[in-house]
Amino acid sequence: MANLPGSRNISRLKKWQRLFVNRSLNMGNIKAIGFDMDHTLVVYNREAFEALAFRETLKKFIASGYPEELATLAFDPNLLIRGLLVDMDRGNVLKVDGHKYVKVAYHGHTRLAKDVRRSVYNIESFKAGSLLSVDTFFSLSEVQLFTEIVDYMARNPNKIQKSYREVYDDLRRFIDQSHADGSIKTHVLAHPEKFVRKDKYLALTLKQQIEAGKSLFLLTNSSWEYTNALMTYILGDESDEFTDWRQYFEYILVSAGKPGFFTGSQPFYEIQTKTGTVKPLAGPLAERSVYQGGNAKLFQQLTGIRGDEILFVGDHIYGDIIRSKHSVNWRTLLVIEELGTELVKLEALKRALSDIRSKMEEREIADEDLQVLHSKLRWQERLMAQSQANGEVKKAQYIGKEREKLATKAGRLATRLEKLDFEIKTMTEARAARVHPVWGELMKVGLERSRFADQVADYACLYTSAVSNLRFYSPFKRFSSVHDMLAHDF
Ligand SMILES: [Mg+2]
Repeated sequence: MANLPGSRNISRLKKWQRLFVNRSLNMGNIKAIGFDMDHTLVVYNREAFEALAFRETLKKFIASGYPEELATLAFDPNLLIRGLLVDMDRGNVLKVDGHKYVKVAYHGHTRLAKDVRRSVYNIESFKAGSLLSVDTFFSLSEVQLFTEIVDYMARNPNKIQKSYREVYDDLRRFIDQSHADGSIKTHVLAHPEKFVRKDKYLALTLKQQIEAGKSLFLLTNSSWEYTNALMTYILGDESDEFTDWRQYFEYILVSAGKPGFFTGSQPFYEIQTKTGTVKPLAGPLAERSVYQGGNAKLFQQLTGIRGDEILFVGDHIYGDIIRSKHSVNWRTLLVIEELGTELVKLEALKRALSDIRSKMEEREIADEDLQVLHSKLRWQERLMAQSQANGEVKKAQYIGKEREKLATKAGRLATRLEKLDFEIKTMTEARAARVHPVWGELMKVGLERSRFADQVADYACLYTSAVSNLRFYSPFKRFSSVHDMLAHDF
């Protein structure tokens, strides 16, 4: 048995190795840990994988009569980030803050000017809910392709006689086809080493949890064939004790149809892995057997594990996290892969943040001083009016002069404030641009929370950048949330 990690060294962890806590969770009470597969256990080499989806889908556009020139459109894995919203009617991509206020908007590769953005979006009738949310990595390449076609349409008017919404509908259809007809899977399965990144600590991470007495299960929407091939690639020969990846997992649930799995009442079907035949489940779930379909309530009934004893680990904020938490009360760990690289960048930008904070403090003090000056000015006006009414000419003149001095001072301070505002804005934008040149930080808009950050805070009990970060923590750790603290505790 390997040594299980304790809590002693946690303070030494780098940020990208940490688990962050939104809601307190005692791992000692967790009996089962469920894992999503794609982008959770299986980490894709995004550049290769999404470029493949991009190209395969583009081929279908051209085959269905779109201009052949589209073949020159290039995939850029870093153009978009998760948490953006897509306005399919106008062909725009938006970054929205926690108050649903649109802060950045692009039409193709053109940034919308502030006044245009404001007149279109920041009006009362705007509802972020009616837009498409870029939640998954799959949707990143999808939306990038949409952006490229919108840009093409802007550069070449009338070459595509369709509305943006129609283009998006075609895009959805072609992507579904690429997944269904195997255009993407065949490539991945033929060369998994090109498309999947092995995490050398994954096997150890899973084994620690098993040794601590937790049941692990796999819950994926992918098919058995695809799941088996990729899981064999990432875990097949990573351990002397577990020679088959299935030995890590007590229950294996494929083609699960999340988020419907968490809300629906679909029955389980057992897959005969040797023959590929499928039959309805009769009786309990057998360990190491493979099932498809099913639903969370029945899973709990058949395994005898309560919802709050299950920790579910997934990358999809809606399909994995919001639904599992709301519908069946499972505890949740959200994997935000890109947070890893972002935290490395932010670590290097610590100085920039503290510079911004000290400017903001300076601004706060200047702002207070200005307000004090304004109240003094009002007071002197009152005194002056009184003196004039009482016929005290000299006193009124004296106050008038003092008042002028104060007004000059206030003017200077107002200019200083404007300058500080400008500096803070410029420094904040420059810092964000070093994280991502167009969209800035994933979890922030300027210095405020992004809509994505709000969702993470609302729905994920824990979040981290990789499943294998679990290995740094005791399987019995009590994760405590800062939200349980009061303002004076800090
Ligand atoms: Mg996934």
